[in-house]
Amino acid sequence: MLAYTYIEHGKFSLLEKPVPQLKDPKDALVRVTLGSICTSDLHIKHGSVPRAVPGITVGHEMVGVVEQVGADVHNVKPGDRVTVNVETFCGECFFCRHGYVNNCEDPDGGWALGCRIDGGQAEYVRVPHADQGLNRIPDEVTDEQALFVGDILATGFWAARISEIKEDDTVLIIGAGPTGICTLLCTLLKHPEHIIVCEQSEARARFVREHYPDVTVVGPEACKEYVLQHSRHGGADVVIEVAGAADTFQLAWECARPNAIVTVVALYDQPQILPLPDMYGKNLTFKTGGVDGCDCAEILQLIAEGKIDTTPLITHRFPLADIEEAYRIFENRLDGVIKVAIMGV
Ligand SMILES: [Zn+2]
Ligand SMILES: [Zn+2]
Repeated sequence: MLAYTYIEHGKFSLLEKPVPQLKDPKDALVRVTLGSICTSDLHIKHGSVPRAVPGITVGHEMVGVVEQVGADVHNVKPGDRVTVNVETFCGECFFCRHGYVNNCEDPDGGWALGCRIDGGQAEYVRVPHADQGLNRIPDEVTDEQALFVGDILATGFWAARISEIKEDDTVLIIGAGPTGICTLLCTLLKHPEHIIVCEQSEARARFVREHYPDVTVVGPEACKEYVLQHSRHGGADVVIEVAGAADTFQLAWECARPNAIVTVVALYDQPQILPLPDMYGKNLTFKTGGVDGCDCAEILQLIAEGKIDTTPLITHRFPLADIEEAYRIFENRLDGVIKVAIMGV
């Protein structure tokens, strides 16, 4: 089968590999019908994910059809259409029992797919702990509607959940890339009084204005002044930082009102400074991520009910054989790309 593979720092290649085999009774084999490229794949390519193993098939955002299950898999069966969770987790350890599945203690726990074990930019993928990591897609939900459930939409849902958003809140979301927009969609479900999105790119700002007209969009230069002037208590009640740029962490806490929650979803290339003397007395609560991707069934239900629609994010479609071109477009942000869909064979 074709499998897009991490060769070495800076290099991925489309290789011919054998179809994966089940290794454990809790495994399932999934035929990938639709996948995507995530910014985290680029982080692997550029060496900022040191635990990524050269030789592995990349890709951790996909949907497909179950082909085969091990003897201990009970929640899915061959023929089921499923979303694949970015995180594999045992469901039994201390962290899993508390919903903190990103820190599952199993050797395959956390983000392993397409990082430490073979992922889904391929024709088939072996999924460990399939009862936890696979969710059946309702019949009325298409593959494209379900494509982001296991990764960026799970992240947006989790970010909105842990941010404790209330109906009279002003919420600032920094960054309107794919994960930022998923965070926005899930924040909208909480019905806060005012949502402000900070985005540098004019194309992305326009996308948000066109699709979500009730949301205010500002650029980074105007952001702090706008937020401080337009929130009731001298800053946003909740700030969700999804951008991960050089100065967006600082922007996040500066835009927060005293006693606000600042949720940091962004993955930074560089260490960030937490200048405690400057924020002394502001009494902020910081929450930091890695997604705990354990709400996928609920997210699929919301999609089936028409409450979340991420299909406008899919701006480009390529067959797996042309994945090099898909990466070129995505990595260089050409042609107004937000997300690409990679079609299985
Ligand atoms: Zn990802
Ligand atoms: Zn666990």
